[in-house]
Amino acid sequence: MMFDLKTITRANIVNLTAYSSARDEFTGSEGLFLDANENPYGELNRYPDPYQTELKREIAKVKNENPSNIFIGNGSDEIIDLLFRIFCEPGKDSALTFSPTYGMYDVAAAINNIELIKIPLNSGFQINEASLEEYLVNPKLKLILICSPNNPTGNLIDSSVIERIASSFNGIVLIDEAYIEFSESNSCIGLLSIYPNLIISQTFSKARGLAAARIGLAYSNPNIINLLNRVKPPYNVSTLNQQAAIEAIGDLDKFEKNKAQILKNKKILSDALNQVSIVEKVYPSEANFFLIKTRNANAVYNALVQQKIIIRNRNNVIENCLRITVGTKQENNSLVEALKLM
Ligand SMILES: *Cc1c(COP(=O)(O)O)cnc(C)c1O
Repeated sequence: MMFDLKTITRANIVNLTAYSSARDEFTGSEGLFLDANENPYGELNRYPDPYQTELKREIAKVKNENPSNIFIGNGSDEIIDLLFRIFCEPGKDSALTFSPTYGMYDVAAAINNIELIKIPLNSGFQINEASLEEYLVNPKLKLILICSPNNPTGNLIDSSVIERIASSFNGIVLIDEAYIEFSESNSCIGLLSIYPNLIISQTFSKARGLAAARIGLAYSNPNIINLLNRVKPPYNVSTLNQQAAIEAIGDLDKFEKNKAQILKNKKILSDALNQVSIVEKVYPSEANFFLIKTRNANAVYNALVQQKIIIRNRNNVIENCLRITVGTKQENNSLVEALKLM
C-alpha cells in the first residue's frame, strides 16, 4: 500500500464545503469595500488577510521556499490541533508520539478524543524502531508526532530514523522543529520533496522572540497545505500579529545577533551548571534550554520558587530532572548562585 492523502483524510473533511469569506471572493486591495460588514472608520477596522500573503512571501524569501508550501497558524499549537481534526476520526483513530515530549500533543489528542500512543524514547532519548513496527501496520494509526530537537530532552532525533518512519508509514508524520534555529543541524525541510506525508512545523515563539504574537508555521506540499487552509478559522492570525511577524522576519541581523547571544549565554550556563555540586548531569542540548539531573529535584524546584526563580519541574516525566531555559546573563547567574547554595 502507498500513502494516499485522500484515503487518510477524514471523509467529512474531504467533503467539506469550506467557508468562503468576503476576502476569499474578492482578493484585490484597491476599491470600496462594502462586502464584509466591517466598520468603515478606524485603524483596525478591516479583517486580516486570511492567507497572510505578505508574511508568507517574506518567509518564502528567507527560507527559499514556495509560498504555496507554507501554512501559518495561530501558534504551532493551532497546527497540531488542526492535524488531529483533519486526519483522526474522534473515538476511532489513534496518533503516536515518543515520550517524554511536548505536553501539548497529549492535550490536543484528548480534546479531539483521539488515543495518543506513547512509545518511550531509549536511554539516549532516541526512537526505538523495533518497538514501533507493530503500530505502523495498524490502519487506525493516522498521525505520528516527532519533536526534534525534543522538548524537554533537548536532543535531535536521528533524521535517518525519521526518514525510515516517513517512508514506511501510510499516515501523516509531523516533525515539530520549534527549536531548530538553535541547533547546529539543518531543518528537515529538505525531506519534503521526497515524502508526500511529511509536515514540518516551526514557530516564531522561540528563536524569533515573538511568543506573544502567536505565529506558527507548517511546511508541506500544497495538497496538505490546502487541507489546513480549508479547516482553519478564516481569520486565524490577526493583522497586528502578521505585521509583527513581517517586521521580525525582515530583521535578519537582529535575529542572528539575538540568537548568537543566547547560544553564548547557553555555553556559559552549561559550564557553570557542571560546576554545581547538586547537579549530577547536564544533558547535551540543541535548543535554548537544558535538562539537568539533580539530587531531589522536587526540593530543588521548590527552593528556587521560594527565591522567585522559576524553572520547569520535569520530575514526573524523567526522574529528578529539571528543565532550565537559557535567560540573560544576569538571570542565569542568579540561578547558578542559588543552586550553589543548596
Ligand atoms: C514552545 C513549543 C512550541 C511553540 O508553540 P507555539 O504555539 O508556536 O507558541 C511548539 N512545539 C514545541 C515542542 C514547543 O516546545
